[in-house]
Amino acid sequence: MTSTPTIALARTVLPAARIDALFDALAAEGWPVIGPTVRDGVLVLAPLAGATDLPRGWGDEQDAGSYRLVRRDDDAYFGYAAPAGTWKRHLFPARSVLWRARVIRGAPVIEETVERPGRRALLGIRGCDLAAVRVQDRVLLHGAHPDPVYAALRADLLLVAVACGTPAATCFCPSMGTGPEVGDGADVALTELDAGTPDHRFLVEARTDAGRAVVLRLDQVPPTTSDDDAATDLLAGAVARMTRSVDADRIPAALKDAAEHPGWDDVAARCLSCGSCTMMCPTCFCTDVRDEPDVLAGVDERVRVWASCFELGHSYLHGGAVRPSPRARYRQWAMHKFSTWHDQFGTSGCVGCGRCITWCPAGIDITAELRAVTEEVPS
Ligand code: SF4
Ligand code: SF4
Repeated sequence: MTSTPTIALARTVLPAARIDALFDALAAEGWPVIGPTVRDGVLVLAPLAGATDLPRGWGDEQDAGSYRLVRRDDDAYFGYAAPAGTWKRHLFPARSVLWRARVIRGAPVIEETVERPGRRALLGIRGCDLAAVRVQDRVLLHGAHPDPVYAALRADLLLVAVACGTPAATCFCPSMGTGPEVGDGADVALTELDAGTPDHRFLVEARTDAGRAVVLRLDQVPPTTSDDDAATDLLAGAVARMTRSVDADRIPAALKDAAEHPGWDDVAARCLSCGSCTMMCPTCFCTDVRDEPDVLAGVDERVRVWASCFELGHSYLHGGAVRPSPRARYRQWAMHKFSTWHDQFGTSGCVGCGRCITWCPAGIDITAELRAVTEEVPS
């Protein structure tokens, strides 16, 4: 009996002109696709009908407090950095109904409300965002009390990641060890090569059995050394273009000594406490819970919504808020992300996606603030 050389068949080269074959393979394996698409002037992550929904030829320009889509001078399908949309929305929704109660014949009846969407392929997830899924898995799935909403949405996923060759000015994934390459957790890893040339192609690599089943539905064209070299060059070029960084070895301990640094006053004078950074962050998971009763219909819903540590009420304990000032709230956010998250969950809470920099209306740059608040103050 001959055995199937599955490992040798787990990598192939897909011409970009045949990208429909990837969608066909995903469909044949029963994976509806969620991926990047252009909507309302930004890139969002939404259900895709096919390759024509991908943002072909679109890139982005991001900097502190600014984002805009731009036309690329090539036909890259994945020629952008961190999208405005976050995958978090598909795993940990901004609003979840935790339970619903109805009065039926005078007695309250509790209904199950956890959404179970079934199989979904997340196509186009970058290394940084894949790392964010690992962070949220640790918090929401592998803790002492797994979150049922997250667990239901996290089940039956196929993660089709794409190596990043087009970082934005706001990105700093190499500092955090999360990109631009595709790290752990992907089922399939894609690398888009030579967009805008006749050799425009994808290096396709299966990393799990589920991924292998999809890849084996494609034509099998073994990658050559020059394909692998081109992939290596793409990643090296991306790293070389990133200008922002965080000293991730030094910062966790340095922040612990910086609680009273005057730099917190400086950033607090600019911070609006709007919470945009936390809403856009792919790892933030704070929530609030409220009841939404409909007396006329005899229905009550207990609803969970995203919350932010920048809200005054978020730290409310009996008698008042523990963090009443913007200074205290900004410090809490930065210290948790970059220092105490390590104590709590064993990793950083930041994956270096840069969204908090791009989407801060005051243009506050966390990489600069971390340097400022850990600088020695002249005596
Ligand atoms: S803190 Fe900022 S850079 Fe880090 S993961 Fe969150 S949004 Fe991305
Ligand atoms: S750092 Fe920026 S985005 Fe975050 S709360 Fe302050 S002003 Fe808003």
